[in-house]
Amino acid sequence: MDFIDLKAQQALIKTKLDERIQEVMASGRYIMGPQIKELEDALSEYTGAKHCLSCSSGTDALLLAMMALGVKAGDEVITTPFTFIATGEMIALLGAKPVYVDIDPATYNIDPGKIAEAITDKTKAIIPVSLYGQCADMNEINKIAADHDLPVIEDAAQSFGATYQGKKSCTLTTIGCTSFFPAKPLGCYGDGGACFTDDAELATQMRYLRAHGQDRRYHHPLIGLNARMDTMQAAILMEKLAIFPNEVEARAKIGARYSQEFGDSVKTPVIKDGNTHVYAQYTVEVDNRTQVQEALKEKGIPTAVHYPVPLHLQPAFGFLGQGEGTFPVAEAASQRVMSLPMHPYLKEEDQDTIVAAVKAAC
Ligand SMILES: *Cc1c(COP(=O)(O)O)cnc(C)c1O
Repeated sequence: MDFIDLKAQQALIKTKLDERIQEVMASGRYIMGPQIKELEDALSEYTGAKHCLSCSSGTDALLLAMMALGVKAGDEVITTPFTFIATGEMIALLGAKPVYVDIDPATYNIDPGKIAEAITDKTKAIIPVSLYGQCADMNEINKIAADHDLPVIEDAAQSFGATYQGKKSCTLTTIGCTSFFPAKPLGCYGDGGACFTDDAELATQMRYLRAHGQDRRYHHPLIGLNARMDTMQAAILMEKLAIFPNEVEARAKIGARYSQEFGDSVKTPVIKDGNTHVYAQYTVEVDNRTQVQEALKEKGIPTAVHYPVPLHLQPAFGFLGQGEGTFPVAEAASQRVMSLPMHPYLKEEDQDTIVAAVKAAC
């Protein structure tokens, strides 16, 4: 059994993918070929964002967004410690200080009730993460941000395709950033990402920053990056995007079926009113995680932990001097969460095997 079955999806669109790849190979336009704009237009249309720019990864999407907003050394950026390293890492890479705020134990997303007290005159932005594929409480977060005149960046690396009160993830804040890493809900065959915004000025800045701060060839008003998406990945994503709405529907069904089958035997994902979940991860909580993982492994069922160490306890953030006990909700979650195989092609019989194995082990 695979944790994520990318082969089943590939088999479904193999002919079209091959055609797309051959087309790019024959064109010779491997960097910024016409498929890049084609994809950006399609992503704008899918999400409803006015502007979309593709880039080299979700990590670089976060970096571009912060650079466009002027985050620099000495600034503070508020985010959650219960996320993939990239969120805090890009803040620190710019010389800014990640200011972590504990999470809501129900959804694992940043607790909006704790954000205001973390704001100082150095705060430059707030980065909520829409973890596991469910959007953070954006209305609350946007309200606090507006009160303090701060921009909000959604780290939507796991939530592309999710909705919040009828609006798509990536369009809920000043800038939305997503990832097309192969294991994400919409993944390419390498690294890729995108930034979304309704602000034309920010879109232009991010476009320049993505290619060495260049506004036209060999003219560089800004210091930027080489953070473009490969044309090949854009072409692949066009075919994957065509089947993505069906996959989002399948994910929702499979996630709901998991929760129904588990009942109260483990803590299953809590979906807030008005949200739809894309289950980038289907994550449960168990008391005896190591044992459960071992028991599942013996039956050939892969599991994963997202994430075993909250960011404030990572050695790389040791300079913050935040020890154990600083963010008790995130720390408790990191000891208990366990993600199960989840993808749009998961068969009912495999799902039944997984559920039975978890129930038997905990
Ligand atoms: C995957 C991920 C990223 C980074 O995306 P890459 O494309 O791998 O660089 C950032 N934040 C979160 C929450 C992620 O899950």
